[in-house]
Amino acid sequence: MRDYTNPSFASRIILCVISFLVALTLFAVPGRVSAQAVTYPEYVVVYGDTLSWIALRFDTTVEDIQALNGLGDNGLHPGDRLKIPTLAGMQGVLTTEFVPLGSSLTSLSRRSRAEPADLIKANKLTSPSELFIGRDIVMTRSEDSQGMETIASLKQGQSFFESSILAGMNTWELSHLNRLENPTRGLPMDTYYKPSEVDSPSNLAIPGLKEVVIDNLPLIQGDTFLIKISSDEPVSVKATLAGVEPVFVDMGAGVQMAYGGIHALTEVGVYPLTMEFTNAEGETYRFDQYVMINSGNYATDKPLQVDPLTIGTPEEAAENAIFKEVVKPVSPVQQWSGLWYSPAQDADCIISRFGSRRTYNDDPGLYYHTGLDLGYCAGIDVYAPAVGTVAGVFPDQVVRGNCIVIDHGLGVYTIYMHLREILVEAGEVVQPGQLIGLIGNTGRSTGPHLHFEVDIQGTPVNPETWLRRAFP
Ligand SMILES: [Zn+2]
Repeated sequence: MRDYTNPSFASRIILCVISFLVALTLFAVPGRVSAQAVTYPEYVVVYGDTLSWIALRFDTTVEDIQALNGLGDNGLHPGDRLKIPTLAGMQGVLTTEFVPLGSSLTSLSRRSRAEPADLIKANKLTSPSELFIGRDIVMTRSEDSQGMETIASLKQGQSFFESSILAGMNTWELSHLNRLENPTRGLPMDTYYKPSEVDSPSNLAIPGLKEVVIDNLPLIQGDTFLIKISSDEPVSVKATLAGVEPVFVDMGAGVQMAYGGIHALTEVGVYPLTMEFTNAEGETYRFDQYVMINSGNYATDKPLQVDPLTIGTPEEAAENAIFKEVVKPVSPVQQWSGLWYSPAQDADCIISRFGSRRTYNDDPGLYYHTGLDLGYCAGIDVYAPAVGTVAGVFPDQVVRGNCIVIDHGLGVYTIYMHLREILVEAGEVVQPGQLIGLIGNTGRSTGPHLHFEVDIQGTPVNPETWLRRAFP
């Protein structure tokens, strides 16, 4: 704690002020005063940048950047610093960051100590919905800026004074740092910061919550997402995104996880993620933030001709209804660990990818491919990709043929269709690499292949994601 009554400290301040005034008079000699120099923030060139890209990004021209920076025709080099003509009046270094969860213009401005108006200008923002999670945003930072850590936001009825004491800081210092004119103006659910060695990963400050992470950004149609929450005290969580309500499972040690699948036909765009946290005292904190759902760039398969009995019939509907129930339960234990094996050995034999748009038998209705088709070329064995429990085996289905469903826990299931033979039984625990069946041509199939599907709470998601990266 600084002691402002210490005489030596006070005399040092006075000395500083005097020297500053002397310096001012020196510069104030008539005829030597120039107009106050215009400041520009500096952009640090990274590998792959071009002048035309930088000009486009900051709404300026290559010529204006060259003129302001005295650049010749030499190429750019990573680490070069360029003043940006359209951002006159701003200072510091421009950095590009991803908008963290819980961000608003106010919180970003507090965090970076930049004026909100400058952030709007540097990012050409026209609406708060443009600050969606995971988009990149240009921030200014002073050269010597410290990290900023979120502090627990005020509980209902708690004062900013109490909160600053809990954060171990002087109330006035903290309110100044957080651009509050008056500490009594602190609001519950608002995000406040204190200087720290490291930056907090999120901008969300809810009492009792340590961290909220959305994994697998940027979000893509037909892909998996994971929300991971760490808290100091028991908290129940609800979340909604694009019609998906992922189920949170307590993993122990204050961690909760929820897997969700974005439907492959969800329109590309910005959607609100709504989260509600209720603590042991029954207080509920709610927040909304926009998230971009990007295109999966799915292909269109050539029109398919299949047995008319297998499409748009009561038999198909009845079968779909049964499978919907099979993959519904969210088992509270994650059985798999790490990256998954491919259920058929050779990746070259992919014959149709997840998400491709399809039509059947000249029906104008749009379908999409709910799995990954692995061809016959690698042999006929089908292996379990990860640990799981066989949720059911289903011989002779109209659409799926001979089919196996495996429950991996937390709402994540794998499904194997069109098999010639099923080599496991319901209730059996399978190990990664275990032989579970043989590839066949049963059900709605136009040649021998394995249809491998990953469902999360009943929504098919891109299996290739699970073969490419480990969750969590
Ligand atoms: Zn398929």
